[in-house]
Amino acid sequence: MPAALPLGADYARLPDRLFVRVDPTPVRAPHALALNRPLATELGLDADWLASPEGVETLAGNRVPEGAQPIAQAYAGHQFGGWVPSLGDGRAVLLGEIATPDGPRDLVLKGAGRTPYSRGGDGRAWLGPVLREYLVSEAMHAMGLPTTRALAATATGETVWRERPLPGAVLARVARGHVRVGTFQYLAARDDTEALEALARHVVARHYPDAADAFDLLDAVLAAQARLVAGWMGVGFIHGVMNTDNTSISGETIDYGPCAFLDGYHPDTVYSSIDRGGRYAYARQPDIAAWNLAQFAGCLLPLMGERDAALDRAQAAVDGFAARVRDEWRATFRAKLGLATPQDGDDALIERLLALMATGRDDFTRVFAGLADGTARARVTDMDGFDAWAADWQARRARDTGGPDTQEDRMRAANPQVIPRNHLVEAAIEAATQGDLGLFQAMFAAVTNPYTPDPTFEEPPLPGEEIEATFCG
Ligand code: AMP
Ligand code: MG
Ligand code: MG
Repeated sequence: MPAALPLGADYARLPDRLFVRVDPTPVRAPHALALNRPLATELGLDADWLASPEGVETLAGNRVPEGAQPIAQAYAGHQFGGWVPSLGDGRAVLLGEIATPDGPRDLVLKGAGRTPYSRGGDGRAWLGPVLREYLVSEAMHAMGLPTTRALAATATGETVWRERPLPGAVLARVARGHVRVGTFQYLAARDDTEALEALARHVVARHYPDAADAFDLLDAVLAAQARLVAGWMGVGFIHGVMNTDNTSISGETIDYGPCAFLDGYHPDTVYSSIDRGGRYAYARQPDIAAWNLAQFAGCLLPLMGERDAALDRAQAAVDGFAARVRDEWRATFRAKLGLATPQDGDDALIERLLALMATGRDDFTRVFAGLADGTARARVTDMDGFDAWAADWQARRARDTGGPDTQEDRMRAANPQVIPRNHLVEAAIEAATQGDLGLFQAMFAAVTNPYTPDPTFEEPPLPGEEIEATFCG
């Protein structure tokens, strides 16, 4: 009989410094909270089997699939700019890789118990961050942005202590890859050029098969991250913990901790309770990504030949990142305004609208969604300012290709109606903690159809409902 969940062990064949072999720690009483059937099908997995008792035990880490070689990955990283030479998966276990027609996908259990990298941590997750990542990562995917995916959320039947007793859960996460800038840093800091070469070969084979050398690899990662960060800006996403260990080489959004979507727009917005200095504020994300990628470039130097020449070339590539993000950002926001062809003055037009929104802390999502149907004006505080801006925008639209209908279609495709609003995510988690998954399920349906209006989930928080701070799990 074929294994119900056949898994490769690609990463486990890399040099052994890159991981430790460790099985998930079984939990007391696993039961399913959520199963992403469309994703299971997309991956070629048997969703009915995943929903069966055997499947649920597997998704909780109580049963290791036949032939799998579970590991915890080693990595280092800069956390809030401070160097940490040894991090690694402290509460995640990579079960192995699922072969799909679109290439391999990692299957990771997050919250699967302690590993040699756990340090003081318990290796566990509680239901809140698990359901939050499930909702937010699938919303991100539905908005067309690269991200890790959520296959399942499974309750453990155990208590997790986070200042108070909370229900434990495990997230089954799927990604194109889990190699981080911090993975390269881990080896570079140890002068382990042999393992660096093997790791670079691995990520080239998996993600960037056209890259002929380390310069091409750097270039491909810079391009992927520029697209990603501009995409975040376009949907008002604040990652919240852009440490180098949370920066994926595949260009996927990874590690949904205290992330949040903007309600009221202001470039300095920070939600994360641990980001006291605003290092990872909304508008700082391109600069932070550039900083993280400079670290990546530094790691690749030993693979780039003669050092002075390599340094110059790598530096030039990293210096070009800001312009790359800017180009992606411009294209993203041009589409949000319904415009197809670049023209002089576009940056100013986009920035004037954003500045106007910032003065009133107007709702980012509702203003942009309202451009196509004429409701934006009612969503801004400075209506006179908006009228002046809108007159220029209409003139600009008249100079663009495509008529009003095409432009409106373009706006509708670029401006989500529904985002996972912080206050609703919190309400869904609170209800789920009390055993009621209804709100979570309804919200999941809404945020995974982000371009469809949904009166229940599209509105910003009322005064007093706003979430001021978000927390890590
Ligand atoms: P993060 O802030 O989620 O990027 O995590 C930073 C590091 O802390 C990673 O090495 C995690 O694996 C580790 N970590 C986070 N939470 C826990 C936990 N509850 N137990 C053990 N390790 C953890
Ligand atoms: Mg992390
Ligand atoms: Mg985290």
